[in-house]
Amino acid sequence: MLVYNSLTKKKEEFVPLEEGKVKMYVCGPTVYDYIHIGNARPYVIFDTIRRYLEYKGYEVNYVQNFTDVDDKIIKKANAEGVDSKVISERYIAEAKKDAEGLNVEVATKNPKVTEEIPEIIEMIQTLIDKGYAYEVNGSVFYSTKSFDGYGKLSGKNIDDLEAGARVAVDDAKKSPMDFVLWKPKKDGEPYWTSPWGDGRPGWHIECSVMAKKYLGDTIDIHAGGEDLIFPHHENEIAQSEAANGKPFAKYWLHNGFINVDNKKMSKSLGNFFTLREITAHIPYDVVRFFILSGHYRSPINFSSELMEAAGAGLDRIKNSYKSLLFFESKATGEMNEKEKELNLEADKFKLDFEKAMDNDFNTADAITAIFEISRFANTNVNENSSKEFVTSIREKFLELCNVLGIIPFEENKNSSISEEEIQKLIDERTAAKKEKNFARADEIREELLSKGVVIEDTRAGVRWSYK
Ligand code: AMP
Ligand code: ZN
Repeated sequence: MLVYNSLTKKKEEFVPLEEGKVKMYVCGPTVYDYIHIGNARPYVIFDTIRRYLEYKGYEVNYVQNFTDVDDKIIKKANAEGVDSKVISERYIAEAKKDAEGLNVEVATKNPKVTEEIPEIIEMIQTLIDKGYAYEVNGSVFYSTKSFDGYGKLSGKNIDDLEAGARVAVDDAKKSPMDFVLWKPKKDGEPYWTSPWGDGRPGWHIECSVMAKKYLGDTIDIHAGGEDLIFPHHENEIAQSEAANGKPFAKYWLHNGFINVDNKKMSKSLGNFFTLREITAHIPYDVVRFFILSGHYRSPINFSSELMEAAGAGLDRIKNSYKSLLFFESKATGEMNEKEKELNLEADKFKLDFEKAMDNDFNTADAITAIFEISRFANTNVNENSSKEFVTSIREKFLELCNVLGIIPFEENKNSSISEEEIQKLIDERTAAKKEKNFARADEIREELLSKGVVIEDTRAGVRWSYK
């Protein structure tokens, strides 16, 4: 399996530190508002990578943080006249709802900065003790020049950066490229007691601390959006490698942006749509499918046309899967010789799928493999197929969908009736029609309709769907 590593800038064979196990850390959102579609991209992409690693048999320890101390959270809290915890907890709950909607697997751990302060203080102290950080009037800064490898991820040169930097507003820093590890308390801000006085951590230190605490000094995969390469991930490397004396992450993975008119979708530019706004009109699974329909490192332009195309593609997959379910419910018996051959032929889609995903998680090509198995099913499965054959094809189809987190059957969580009850009523209606009890047959049709289920009589039998 080849993975593009932003650290070495090439595709490398994926070999985890420990056989069969993957330690993966993904930078999570700053929780001061609903997440936007751009933020949804790393959620979906790294969840899909995790699912694929699990499909390959790895046990994945997946850690994604919530940044719950930040200027923007404090600003919103002050504007609403509430504690900043009220704001962060509100948007953590909302982000979790969105992640669930996107069918993102629950992380092994979602640490929050406010719950990791002792460990943060400990790492800052280690950096001071080892000569990588210094304190000035209650602030602690990391001295980027003291770390030899500074710039190795972003490819930036520290002297060029320094020459290009504006004169520091913050005079306390020895160099404009130094960054803050601990900030002194200001009025109206949350704070904690530390050896350098009351204050709160800077942004970058949290991820170094949480990765170490929950995954260890060296991890397999560190991931996030490409805007995090510099300075956030560069600073994380400087902190972790200086404090632990070991390499930090073996593979660095970064997703490209979701753009609007070729500009990154972001809160600061104001060109964003929250996932909530979008999912008021477009189902979450279409958004997930849209995100997966491009390669994760390429930029995607957000547009309603692309979203519609994603919806149409997903519908094709669902319709094909629904037909399989329908034929499976009617079919009986075992595979004949011809079906055995076809069944073997269908393994090719799984190989195509794996080939795509083994090539740096090419979900676009993986989706093509799913379209191919759906086309194969449409052509080769019908009312004459044996149950064994239909089930086998349907299971191959479903397995691939599951890896991408796509649910190919309609779920209607609002329906008050289970699929079994629906089938029972349909069977009762068929029996009623046979006995020419059309009044009862109509009654059942109405009852199903009132529960959001539409039925359709076809040559091959009764088919149903949610309204
Ligand atoms: P933030 O809350 O801004 O720190 O972002 C949370 C995650 O979303 C980070 O991994 C960012 O890199 C990522 N992200 C933010 N905006 C976009 C975008 N327009 N496209 C793709 N990823 C983004
Ligand atoms: Zn981070």
